[in-house]
Amino acid sequence: MAEDCLFCKISRGDFKTEFLYQSPTLVAFRDIHPKAPTHVLFVPTAHYATLNDVPSADDTIMTEITQAIQKIAKAEGVDQSGYRVITNINRHGGQEVFHLHVHLLGGRQLGSMG
Ligand code: 5GP
Ligand code: ZN
Repeated sequence: MAEDCLFCKISRGDFKTEFLYQSPTLVAFRDIHPKAPTHVLFVPTAHYATLNDVPSADDTIMTEITQAIQKIAKAEGVDQSGYRVITNINRHGGQEVFHLHVHLLGGRQLGSMG
């Protein structure tokens, strides 16, 4: 746990956030500034600053994220219409919160990447 990390605080329940998914190792909640009708963030409870920092010893978190994404995409009704999964990494990736998180965006036609 990083003391001043926003997503550490959210994932441990400090702000009474509504979780769409919750396990001891992963939570999912809605983005505060949604960029699509469905915009959910998947946040490990362990503090990894970026995808670069997921240790090889943790060989389950990315699988759990995949399974949680499948579940929430279906619950949100976007699994068949389609959606996008993104993790921003460091400066060129446009990362703003330095605690690993994966975005699920869906519910509208998304533009081309760039
Ligand atoms: P990044 O650019 O780091 O991948 O995205 C960070 C995301 O976290 C942004 O989409 C932003 O809207 C979201 N965010 C930042 N602060 C909060 C917060 O306090 N609560 C929630 N639910 N989302 C947040
Ligand atoms: Zn953190």
